[in-house]
Amino acid sequence: MTTRDQQPHGNGAVGHYDAVIIGAGFGGLYALHHLRAMGLAVRVYDGAAGVGGTWWWNRYPGARVDFPGGPFYRYTFSEELVREWDWAETQPDQPSVLAYLEYVADRLDLRRDIQLGTWVHDACYDEKAQRWLVETSAGARVSAQFLICAVGTLSAAHTPDIPGLDDFAGECYHTGRWPQAPVSFAGKRVGVIGTGSSGVQAIPEIARAAAHLTVFQRTPQYSIPARNRPLDPEVVRQARENWAAIRAQMNASPLGAPFEVSERSAFADTPEQRQALYEELWQKGGFHLLFGSYADILTDKEANRTVADFVRGKIREIVRDPETAEKLMPNYYLGTKRQLLDNGYYETFNRDNVTLVDLRTDPIQEITPTGVRTAKGEHPLDMLVLATGFDAISGALKRLNPKGRGGVCLAEKWRTRFDTYLGMTIADFPNLFLIHGPGSPSVLFNMPLGAELESAWIGDCVRYLRERGLGAIEPTPDAEKNWDREVAELANATLYPLTDSWYTGANIPGKPRQFCVHLGGPLYFQRLAEVAAQGYEGFVLEEERRAQVAAAL
Ligand SMILES: Cc1cc2nc3c(=O)[nH]c(=O)nc-3n(C[C@H](O)[C@H](O)[C@H](O)COP(=O)(O)OP(=O)(O)OC[C@H]3O[C@@H](n4cnc5c(N)ncnc54)[C@H](O)[C@@H]3O)c2cc1C
Repeated sequence: MTTRDQQPHGNGAVGHYDAVIIGAGFGGLYALHHLRAMGLAVRVYDGAAGVGGTWWWNRYPGARVDFPGGPFYRYTFSEELVREWDWAETQPDQPSVLAYLEYVADRLDLRRDIQLGTWVHDACYDEKAQRWLVETSAGARVSAQFLICAVGTLSAAHTPDIPGLDDFAGECYHTGRWPQAPVSFAGKRVGVIGTGSSGVQAIPEIARAAAHLTVFQRTPQYSIPARNRPLDPEVVRQARENWAAIRAQMNASPLGAPFEVSERSAFADTPEQRQALYEELWQKGGFHLLFGSYADILTDKEANRTVADFVRGKIREIVRDPETAEKLMPNYYLGTKRQLLDNGYYETFNRDNVTLVDLRTDPIQEITPTGVRTAKGEHPLDMLVLATGFDAISGALKRLNPKGRGGVCLAEKWRTRFDTYLGMTIADFPNLFLIHGPGSPSVLFNMPLGAELESAWIGDCVRYLRERGLGAIEPTPDAEKNWDREVAELANATLYPLTDSWYTGANIPGKPRQFCVHLGGPLYFQRLAEVAAQGYEGFVLEEERRAQVAAAL
């Protein structure tokens, strides 16, 4: 450990650390544990008032994990944590995941190095001192050799620019910034704008509690029943007893889950066989229909059509009013937007107290103090819920906008493309590491496991530098270009880039269109290992200058 906290934090306080981590979600908490175990002095900041990241902010009704094999959405590195914590349901809900992360923070004694309720406002690289200078909303200025951005891929809540929104006189909540205090829907006329993951989870719950619910649908979605249920104690017991084997299976799986992924083509079966398999997997629920049916669903348009037709048929079967069913009919390649899982979404539109407004044919003109005015009329509301998602993957980093070598701003560098090397480092931003950055598997992999593997790589890199008296590491622009090509090649072999989605940035006006997820799964982590084994190929390494850390402030 080379540096130490000098004063308690507060206005003007100064601290020198080996590493500053921004974010106290799954990613930041594990990075803290890992780097601290290596002997580094680490400080974590989070703008949230509690640990948990996503699971602290997203308290909307119905929020829950949809990851394949729900109980495996957890840290994998410690058998003790696995033994001591049991999930109750196959798709744990938000309070359970938050309670789990609070338990982990306590169990690993992480809180003493975390400062909550504190935003990092600014982060600038001092080339001479080879250190990052960080300013927080609490008025502290601290320096660190390494800056680790675990700021989240789905943490920069997006509020669309709708005329009159600020004038709405009723209650108004964004699902990604849900209040701490309980929200009551009883006796109220509620409007939900947006039918992505959060909307589809919240809508059935709100419909049950509100006097009336109006759903303002921007894009119809394919949703698959989650079939959430109490977790079978036998599954829990087996997971505990065979944890090492399960962990190895997760590491080897394309999704980071002990979950069977089909290797068969949809055309290896007759239409009748396909239909029977789709029906079986629909009844099973969860991601089985998408990943357990056929290998070419996400790569072949015709294969995709077979499963998309199946789900469209299910919507017609479930929704009693044919006109409403037609409004709900999705028309993109199934799975190429975040695949939604629900607990009674389509069924909700059979309720007498629910109205669906299709914004493609009846667009919002303005929000008034008392409701939403669309082209066809006024919808009076007491409460507005914005399930309008996030500036995903790159948004929180762009908002942080660190300044690298020569004062270059990340927001400027990423104006037209989200260049990274390995999804974890950026040219002109030495000693800055991303967890789940653009160009990593991030949202298409088990994210807690991904964060563990990425943090371990960062730890190895820090050790490598220290053992050799090196002060800074930074990728070359060529390494970034090649990485960009690798990510694009993998994506272009699939249907993902053909769809407007938050994966491609299409949900944010003016955002560059780029599919920013590395689809390699385990191949990605293999690439990380290869780069390290080759002495950090693609990076420039600088000798340590041994500048006085105090001079950095
Ligand atoms: C409703 C919902 C359901 C999800 N379900 C799943 C699922 O089933 N499976 C799955 O794999 N993933 C799921 N995800 C994705 C989820 O985000 C990740 O699994 C995981 O929780 C991300 O952890 P993280 O630490 O990377 O980021 P986050 O949990 O987003 O934490 C980032 C933290 O950084 C903080 N921060 C950002 N900028 C700053 C700043 N400038 N200063 C200070 N603090 C800052 C934020 O306040 C936030 O607390 C879901 C996401 C949502 C929103």
